[in-house]
Amino acid sequence: MRQLYIGGAWTASASGESIDVVNPATEEIIDRVPAGAPDDVEAAVRAARAAFPSWSATDGGERGKLLAAAADLLTERAGEIAQTIATDMGAPLGFALKVQTLMPAGVLAGYAELAETHPREQRVANSLIVREPVGVVAAITPWNYPLHQIICKVAPALAAGCTVVLKPSEVAPLAAYALADIFHAVGLPPGVFNLVSGRGPVVGEAMATHPEVDLVSFTGSTTAGRRVASLAAETVKRVALELGGKSANIILPDADLRAAVKVGVANCFVNSGQTCSAWTRMLVHRDQYDEAVRLAVEAAAKYTVGDPFDETNRLGPLVSAAQRDRVVHYINRGQEEGARLVYGGTEPPHPRGFYVEPTIFAAVSPGMTIEQEEIFGPVLSIIPYLSEDEAVQIADGTKYGLAGAVWAGSEDRAVAVARRLRTGQVAINGGSFNPQAPFGGYKQSGIGREMGELGLDEYLETKSLQL
Ligand code: NAD
Repeated sequence: MRQLYIGGAWTASASGESIDVVNPATEEIIDRVPAGAPDDVEAAVRAARAAFPSWSATDGGERGKLLAAAADLLTERAGEIAQTIATDMGAPLGFALKVQTLMPAGVLAGYAELAETHPREQRVANSLIVREPVGVVAAITPWNYPLHQIICKVAPALAAGCTVVLKPSEVAPLAAYALADIFHAVGLPPGVFNLVSGRGPVVGEAMATHPEVDLVSFTGSTTAGRRVASLAAETVKRVALELGGKSANIILPDADLRAAVKVGVANCFVNSGQTCSAWTRMLVHRDQYDEAVRLAVEAAAKYTVGDPFDETNRLGPLVSAAQRDRVVHYINRGQEEGARLVYGGTEPPHPRGFYVEPTIFAAVSPGMTIEQEEIFGPVLSIIPYLSEDEAVQIADGTKYGLAGAVWAGSEDRAVAVARRLRTGQVAINGGSFNPQAPFGGYKQSGIGREMGELGLDEYLETKSLQL
C-alpha cells in the first residue's frame, strides 16, 4: 500500500485502512492507497501551518524556481504519468499524455513565472495596497482530469506563497502520488505540500472544518461542493468551488453547420463525456434540425470505444461501475421521457470494463431530465429552437453556468450572443480552450475562478496600508 505525504515524509495513515484503485478498462485492482483519517488531516494541516511563515516569506523568484523545476520533471516523466492516468481513470493514452499530463505541466510552468511577476502592490491615493498569501489551503479534487484539477489549485497556491494539503479523488488518486514524488525530488520544503488520500466525507470534511485551514478550494459535484461550503462557513473560511455544468452549444442559422456539429460532438464526447465544461446540449434552429441530427450521428459513428492503450480508440471506459450505472440510468430516463435515441444506447460495447456507447438523443425538449441534469458521460442532447432569444433562454435554463459555445456566420454575431449568456466560458466559432484564461462558473457551477492571473488572485489576501 502507498503512504501519505506529510511534512516532507512518506507516512502511514492513522487509519491503517486502504482504498482499492481499479483499472476501469479491466475491472482489476491495480493499487491501494491509504484511506486517510481525521488524525492524518490534523498532522498535515499542522505541517502546512508550520511551513507557512517561511514559505510565504520566500522570494517569489525562489518559489518560481522550485515550481519550474517541478514542471520540468513533470514534463520529463509525462509518458509514465500518462500511462498511470490511462490506467486508473481510463483516458485514451494519447489524450492522457497531451491533455491530462502535458497541459497541466504547462499550467505549472506558467505559475512558476507568475510567482515572480504577478503584481502584489498598488498605490491608491494615500494607501499602499499589499496582497499576501492567504495561508493554509485545503484542496479537494475530482477524478476526471486528475492531475489538471490538482495543478489548477496547487500551482497558484504555491506560487502565491500558500502551503497546501491536497485530497485527491479516491477514484483516480495515482497522479497525485506522482506529483508528491516530484515536489519531493525538486526539494520543496517539508510541509509546503502535503497529500492525504481518502474519502470525501472523512478526509474532505475534516479539511473543510479544520480551524487552521484558511481557504478550501473544491472541484467536484455541486452536491459535495454545497456540503463543503456549508462546513467551511462554521469557521468563516474562504471557499472556492468549481462544480458541475450542463453547457449549451448554440448553432445559429448562418453558422457553418457541418463544422459546428462535428466540433460539438467531439467536445461532448471527449474524455468519455467526463468533462465538467462539456457542451452536452446542442441547440439547433428548427429549419436545420434534421440535417444537424444526421451530421451528429455521422460524426458519432467515428468514435470507437475500447482499450485506452489501443491508439485506434477515441474513447475509453467510464471511470467506475458507479459512473457507468449513472450514465445508463440517464439514457433510460431520456427514453422514458420521450426523447428519441438516434445513436448508441445502454448496450455495453464490451463485456468487461465500464464502457458505454457514445449516445445521441434527438427531440429533447427543455425541462427533460437529460436536458437539465449533468450526466457526466458521452451523451448528447440535440434541442431545436425557433429564435435567437429562445436559444439564449434554453442555454441559460439550467441551474448551471460553466461553459458553452456559439457558432455564427461572423465572430461579431457570435460574440454578441455569447455576451448574453450567464456562463463562465464561451467558445466562439470553435475557439480553442485556453489554459491561461480564467475558468469557473456562474450560478450553481461554482464560485471563483481558476487558471491564469485570476486563478492566482484566489490565493491572495488584501491589506491596505494608509500612509
Ligand atoms: P465528487 O463531488 O463526488 O468528488 C469530488 C471530490 O470531493 C473528491 O475528492 C471526493 O472525495 C470529495 N468529496 C466528496 N464528498 C465530500 C464531502 N462530503 N466533503 C468533502 N469532500 C468530499 O465529484 P467527482 O465524481 O469526483 O467528479 C465529478 C464532478 O466534478 C462532476 O459534477 C463535475 O462536473 C465536477 N467537476 C467540475 C469541474 C469544474 O472545474 N467546474 C471540473 C471537473 C469536475
